[in-house]
Amino acid sequence: MKNITGSAIGKPCLAGRDKARDKKKNASLPGSPTLRAGAFACVHRIGRGLWGGVSAAQWGDWEWQLQNRVRSLEKLALVINTPVESLAACGPVTKTYPIAVTPYYLSLMDAAEECDPLRRQCFPDPRELDCSLGEDDDPLGEERAMPVPGLIHRYPDRCLVIVTNVCAVYCRHCNRKRIWCNERPGGVREWIQPMIDHIARTPSLREVILSGGDPLLLSEGVLDWLLGTLRAIPHVEVLRIGSRAPVTLPMRVTPGLAAMLKRHRPLWFNTQFNHPREITPESTRACERLLMAGIPVSNQSVLLKGINDDYATMRDLLIGLERISVRPYYLFQCDPVRGVNHFRADIRGGMEIMEALRHNVSGLALPRYVLDCPGGRGKIPLQHFFNSACERGWDK
Ligand code: SF4
Repeated sequence: MKNITGSAIGKPCLAGRDKARDKKKNASLPGSPTLRAGAFACVHRIGRGLWGGVSAAQWGDWEWQLQNRVRSLEKLALVINTPVESLAACGPVTKTYPIAVTPYYLSLMDAAEECDPLRRQCFPDPRELDCSLGEDDDPLGEERAMPVPGLIHRYPDRCLVIVTNVCAVYCRHCNRKRIWCNERPGGVREWIQPMIDHIARTPSLREVILSGGDPLLLSEGVLDWLLGTLRAIPHVEVLRIGSRAPVTLPMRVTPGLAAMLKRHRPLWFNTQFNHPREITPESTRACERLLMAGIPVSNQSVLLKGINDDYATMRDLLIGLERISVRPYYLFQCDPVRGVNHFRADIRGGMEIMEALRHNVSGLALPRYVLDCPGGRGKIPLQHFFNSACERGWDK
């Protein structure tokens, strides 16, 4: 494990270093084999670190992974071998936005590198307490679209159910980070039942999306009950699950879970790979188990500054997903969530990446780049058609 020498977590990456990395990454557009191999490499991968002594069975047990998540700055300091004082600037952040990282996800990163794209997604950053122009705790106006607590009903034919506020890893760019600390009176079934009742009395709802938090953190029994209850409502035709577990806790997708989910088809599964290094043998196996159970798996990435907002990384991510049969579905422009400005990439840059990808990547691997409109006014596709048409003189 490499030592960190006095650098605070969340200290902004050095602009020069960023530029050098970008230059290197973009050097051989549209992506040489060398570049593609390089994008998957992690020189100082942290590995199992503190957990070197645990058995393979424990490491592969999702409940062990959950129990051993890093939940405090003290533990994080221990894992990355730095004095806890060097993380002091993150103390106030973690009171508002707690930390949670699985040992598995930590094992994939170079913890000594502040710009590591996986580290940046889960390590707290003092900038999370800033508020930039246009940012909001609830940028999509979800709270205003809830006829009952936890159920977002914005479109006539579908709704989204926030089944839990717990996640295996708390992603620092999350657009629902406002709910991480919410207290919920009563048990999980008591929380969910009023949402089921709303769905049952609303015949226009033919599709229900289970989201959170992470629905796969519910017990198998509760998830089975919930899916079965929804499936029994005559007008509910399609169920969808949004979960990042294949990326951050892939051992959660056990053969038993996949078999249970299979019973509730048609069921669609959306996950969120944001970087090619998240495509590992473990995450591949998790997706494969879902696919083998007849559950299509799609991906919804977020365009994140310094993480995947360059052509080479995005291309590696997309073709990596295609290789493991996960369909790239959306690439989201990062929402104007409070304190997430340091993750927000430039839209024009995003469109340029998409335009380059359009010429060099199979259509099967191309997601739709979209902006979720603030206030919940729906998704707008961000496309380069107009500029491309002008370049070709089609506007004349
Ligand atoms: S797993 Fe999803 S809901 Fe949970 S923190 Fe990450 S982005 Fe947010």
